[in-house]
Amino acid sequence: MSEKIVIVGAGQAGLQIAESLRAEAFAGDIVLLAGENFPPYQRPPLSKAWLQGEVAEQRLFLRGADFFAARNIDLRLGAHVTAIDRASKTVILADGSVENYSGLALATGARARRPAIAGADLAGVCVLRDIEDARSIAHRLPLAENIVVIGGGFIGLEVAAAARKKGRPVKVVETLDRLMARAVTPKISTFFADLHRAHGAELLFSTQVTALEGRDGRVAAVITAEDQKIPADLVILGIGAIANDELAAAAGLEVSRGIVVDSYGGTSDSAIVAAGDCTVWRRDDGKLLRLESVQNAVEQGKAAAASLTGRKKPFVAAPWFWSDQYDVKLQMAGLSEGFDGFVERVSGESAFSLFYYRGEKLIAVDSVNRPGEHLLARKLLDAGISPDKAQVADAAGDLRGLLR
Ligand SMILES: Cc1cc2nc3c(=O)[nH]c(=O)nc-3n(C[C@H](O)[C@H](O)[C@H](O)COP(=O)(O)OP(=O)(O)OC[C@H]3O[C@@H](n4cnc5c(N)ncnc54)[C@H](O)[C@@H]3O)c2cc1C
Repeated sequence: MSEKIVIVGAGQAGLQIAESLRAEAFAGDIVLLAGENFPPYQRPPLSKAWLQGEVAEQRLFLRGADFFAARNIDLRLGAHVTAIDRASKTVILADGSVENYSGLALATGARARRPAIAGADLAGVCVLRDIEDARSIAHRLPLAENIVVIGGGFIGLEVAAAARKKGRPVKVVETLDRLMARAVTPKISTFFADLHRAHGAELLFSTQVTALEGRDGRVAAVITAEDQKIPADLVILGIGAIANDELAAAAGLEVSRGIVVDSYGGTSDSAIVAAGDCTVWRRDDGKLLRLESVQNAVEQGKAAAASLTGRKKPFVAAPWFWSDQYDVKLQMAGLSEGFDGFVERVSGESAFSLFYYRGEKLIAVDSVNRPGEHLLARKLLDAGISPDKAQVADAAGDLRGLLR
């Protein structure tokens, strides 16, 4: 039987697996099953440039139709997989058709979390995960009188910034006492809180939303644990994402808030790999880490494709991520969790980097409006180079020399 790899999910990770399989000289069949009715597209602009009308929708698509034809990748739109039968090595689609595989890649991504509170399904309550969600928000945004963003994380704050740029009133309601608390340190949270306030967004911290109230089926107010009633005709839920791991779990693969993969994208079945937002990575120290980023989808996708062709290429690069809010670009390299000190490298008002250390070891760098420093930080982290702290603090000092 000829080799055939079936990829479930045609997002950033699914596309990367298909592309890398051909780059690895895989000559068998590749079937790329897209649950959505769109070819692979990038999600980051949906809450940034696209939402602000600065990027045409066509620019979201990662590859043109000729790309798939040239590589003989059988991309099928609207092809939703409902089950995996590992014994017969087949996947079953929603239309009842069956696809056999010699190797299977799961790249099913994640979906937006919805809170289990009354009113979460009212009209005017939106999540932002895909193009349809983004179109719906873009349509409502210019007309909204009272926008409430629930969740002060990246996506919520990017939507808040887009709304303020359009002159719409925005309140951001956050359960914790600072912004982006799971991803950045207090100093960065404070910088962004000041930025949002300076642009006229209202921030409500330590505030728990308990219900959404409606009028004629449309959202009218957000109710908090303190019985505050905040008027709202557009509510954006930005409270995180849930890995789409149900297919894998039903097929008996190991899952733990995501499909558990090793550093090669391997799952508990040697014929099945997984990559991207649907996964949780078991690091060599045994710790489970969930990373939801383009870089993770791309790097895990490359490793997973290599594994399917029998090569071992671990995914090792330091994680990185970015967020655009107003005219500020935040870029993060490495994971600052567990830092015991940091050094500021200040290049001007609203342009600085924070270098995080554990002991003398550099573990992460957050940069605000310093794209060059972010790229440098990634190279330093990948090379395992920890610059001297005094050298970092001197903004005029050259750190590039350390890479030579
Ligand atoms: C608004 C927004 C902004 C973001 N901004 C950033 C950013 O600034 N920087 C950054 O690094 N990351 C950002 N991200 C995260 C980034 O987009 C994701 O990490 C990345 O898209 C993950 O790619 P993926 O292929 O794993 O999953 P996805 O892109 O979610 O793709 C998975 C695909 O699989 C399909 N699928 C699911 N189940 C099935 C099934 N059973 N059968 C067939 N198909 C199925 C889904 O419909 C989906 O199309 C953002 C995400 C969003 C939503």
